[in-house]
Amino acid sequence: MIIANVTQRLTTFVGGQAVDVEERSGGLFKADPAAIYERWSEFREWADGIGAKGPGEVAMDLLDAPSPRPSQVFAISLNYRDHAAEADLAIPEFPAAFTKFQSCIVGARTPVELAGPTSDWEVELVVVMGQPTSKVAADGAWNHVAGVTIGQDLSERARQLAGPMPQFSLGKSFAGYGPTGPWLVTPDELPDADDLALRCLLDGETVQESRTSQLIFSVPDLIAALSSVLTLMPGDLIFTGTPAGVGFARSPQRFLKPGQQLLSEIEGIGQLHTRIAGPRGQSANPQVSHG
Ligand code: ZN
Repeated sequence: MIIANVTQRLTTFVGGQAVDVEERSGGLFKADPAAIYERWSEFREWADGIGAKGPGEVAMDLLDAPSPRPSQVFAISLNYRDHAAEADLAIPEFPAAFTKFQSCIVGARTPVELAGPTSDWEVELVVVMGQPTSKVAADGAWNHVAGVTIGQDLSERARQLAGPMPQFSLGKSFAGYGPTGPWLVTPDELPDADDLALRCLLDGETVQESRTSQLIFSVPDLIAALSSVLTLMPGDLIFTGTPAGVGFARSPQRFLKPGQQLLSEIEGIGQLHTRIAGPRGQSANPQVSHG
């Protein structure tokens, strides 16, 4: 099953046609997509009953975030070996987590206004939780997941890396710096939920390309590790980490510029188009140290 947030109305697809969930369910389920994760198993049963399956026709410029108000947003640093190497950092023994604050989460239709001249791309598989999850083993952890979507962990590198302590959470939480979408896909729709091709293209040029089988901590590993510390809640997001090819690790460094098109692609999910806007001018050659 696929669900989409069509201008804040929960939508699914039956036979390729968009179905408004509140209308079709006679009000059993409300239109607010944020509310569905609390009732995920009940909703899945209903959606299976009406034959909800696969994608359908919907205008991408109507799409908001599939989980628009997650109570918690986790993001994982250094979860692909090639990215740890390009950032010149050691591979962690326990997932290195930070948060993207909730207010940065947007959907496909929202252009991202650059907050500064050193903003960078990071394509990531994003997990959306489907039930309260505490102290679960990796085995069976997928059963706690509502579905997956595509995310960009956009990062203002100067803000992220300045000062004696890196500011991952603030540097990656400017307004619009958490694009997710285009929709949520349930794991059963995926060819192999633990081995999905992912790619990031900037103005048509491939800048990142990997597979989620290359994750150091897989989706089940991440759920087990995070839930050993705290309770994951329905609708929570986990940005699972990004592969090599980000802009600040390149020589010369490259950063996002207004007018560019960022395309994020994951096998079995689709494509997330992000328009880059920005009132601020770009300096000719901004540089950020890896420190
Ligand atoms: Zn990231």
